[in-house]
Amino acid sequence: MNNLRPALGIFGGTFDPIHYGHIKPVIDAAQQACVQSVAMVPCHIPVHKNHVPSATKHRLAMLRLAIEEYPQLYIDEREIHNSAPSYTIHTLRALRAEYPKHPLCFFIGMDSLHSLTKWHEWQALFDYCHFVVSCRPGIQKSVSSELQQLLNTRQVITNNALHNALCGKIYLADTPELAISSTDIRQRIQKGLPTEKMLNPNVRAYIHTHKLYQASTTF
Ligand code: ATP
Repeated sequence: MNNLRPALGIFGGTFDPIHYGHIKPVIDAAQQACVQSVAMVPCHIPVHKNHVPSATKHRLAMLRLAIEEYPQLYIDEREIHNSAPSYTIHTLRALRAEYPKHPLCFFIGMDSLHSLTKWHEWQALFDYCHFVVSCRPGIQKSVSSELQQLLNTRQVITNNALHNALCGKIYLADTPELAISSTDIRQRIQKGLPTEKMLNPNVRAYIHTHKLYQASTTF
């Protein structure tokens, strides 16, 4: 027994648009990690991307539609309404202050694990959260020596370890590989290619109604 509270999940992203490659792996990974609720945290200004995201109101509206059927997911709007660039470390510090006794599990895809050592204050992230990692296709199998070292010291095989400590572990979930990305979806919409298998139908309808991602549209 420990005196920790139930673990809280956090899943950050640009979600422009939110797609099945976000939702399905995170639902599976949360189940495997035994995390009952996950905050979806859309970022305001992504710090790792060149793409200028769609308007806040659209990304939020699509997120609301996409999570409707998943009671374990909810939206945390703290980053999207903050005019500063979205650094995960700042969000985690704020969450830790609010939830001092809850393990925090930050959900990422395998591509994000590969680039983790480039994140702002990346080493400090482990003082605030665990990482729960979903599979993502197209990611090289070999890892950098820095990442290998990180895995050697922090990887845990069972989900118990995520609930017995507030932070500091890496858990690799075994999730189905979905070859979906927001970039590809935006390009497909511009070219008039199908997106049915990638997007929730209500999100597709929203994109259509608001004419998002079309070549001549500016927001
Ligand atoms: P973009 O194509 O615009 O870069 P994206 O599809 O990668 O966007 P983000 O919103 O940047 O989506 O991703 C947020 C998080 O979701 C990241 O941790 C990323 O690794 C994860 N993710 C995105 N797509 C997938 C996928 N198909 N499978 C697993 N994880 C994913």
